[in-house]
Amino acid sequence: MTKSEQIIAKTEKFGAHNYHPLPVVIAKAEGIMVEDPEGNIYYDFLSAYSAVNQGHRHPKIIKALKDQADRVTLTSRAFHNDILGDFLEQLCNYTGYEMALPMNTGAEAVETAMKLARRWGVEVKGVENGKQEIIFAKENFHGRTIAIVSASNDPEARINYGPYTEGIKLIPYNDTKALEETITENTVAFMFEPIQGEAGVNVPDAGYLKTVREICTKNNIMMIADEVQTGFCRTGKKFAVNHENVKPDAMTLGKALGGGVFPVSAVVADKKFMELFTPGTHGSTFGGNPLACAVAMASLDVLDNENLADRSEKLGEIFRDEVRKIKCDKVVKVRGKGLLNAVLFEEGFEAWNTCLALKEAGLLAKQTHGNIIRFAPPLTIKEDELMKAIAIIKEVFEKI
Ligand SMILES: *Cc1c(COP(=O)(O)O)cnc(C)c1O
Repeated sequence: MTKSEQIIAKTEKFGAHNYHPLPVVIAKAEGIMVEDPEGNIYYDFLSAYSAVNQGHRHPKIIKALKDQADRVTLTSRAFHNDILGDFLEQLCNYTGYEMALPMNTGAEAVETAMKLARRWGVEVKGVENGKQEIIFAKENFHGRTIAIVSASNDPEARINYGPYTEGIKLIPYNDTKALEETITENTVAFMFEPIQGEAGVNVPDAGYLKTVREICTKNNIMMIADEVQTGFCRTGKKFAVNHENVKPDAMTLGKALGGGVFPVSAVVADKKFMELFTPGTHGSTFGGNPLACAVAMASLDVLDNENLADRSEKLGEIFRDEVRKIKCDKVVKVRGKGLLNAVLFEEGFEAWNTCLALKEAGLLAKQTHGNIIRFAPPLTIKEDELMKAIAIIKEVFEKI
């Protein structure tokens, strides 16, 4: 057995089988490349589901982590720490909101936003507690908690986890008419992804975000954009909602906020919403911890200093143009924004084998829903590196 095979066997033996990873072990990583124990190197075209937008082990982020580790790492929110205020200020400036609430994982940020919407519904809109409804879009992915999978229509994510959370309604994605028709006097929010990531980079029609904003305002419900995957320059703008210059009432953030180093998530909203949380009504032991704050501040700095939004936009265009030129009968569509892209194969196509072939050729990507492969390299990738990676994709696709 190779070293990799031994490691995989041990992981499978002792670990719950709630994932089905590609058979590759990553032992080292730097920038856009990862390395296995045998010394093979690969382009990382998943970026930990867009949590590594800044590239693996960005020196500035690692330095922030180490420096902070030498001072203080955890206080809980029972006490103040000397860096949380700076982080919240920077995050508010970066996102354009008045206040932020720090958590750790994306799912926690989503739960926080759901709580905020339910509370706002009662305390501001006047909905009776227990009657609040939140509308979600089908094919969504917002995380794995009971409340969140209650809003999922993916059978695998939901199966045998009942009883499900009440007060959830599902409508088709990219359908503003359905949104309008589904709103009742008890609706408190529409929560959605501005581009559906896990669904296979499902980009809505132009104008969708603007119309959603109008409908939410007109009907007095909160517009909540889940930017956990699409945020932080992944789609060619700071946030995917910036493509239509729309400001949601709240955004959920995570993944790349932690720079691929540390779990950091947050909800951002203006005061009139965020002030509805009062002491004791929500919290997290690790939320806002000094290590997370230091890492997140460095992660935001890197996005700005290295112009990663512009680079993502420009290289994304090149990626789609070049991949569309590849001759492969099985490919139906190449879609995406910025460096969040996907190749759709025909119905019934098993992309797992293609991902294995890509791995053998030196590029790591993962299929979603069987017939879709997402391509999302770190945003620090350079144009010549992107072209080399595209050459690998071409070589593999032409053999299908
Ligand atoms: C990944 C993701 C989440 C969940 O984040 P976790 O950190 O895995 O809990 C939520 N929303 C979206 C859009 C995501 O892509």
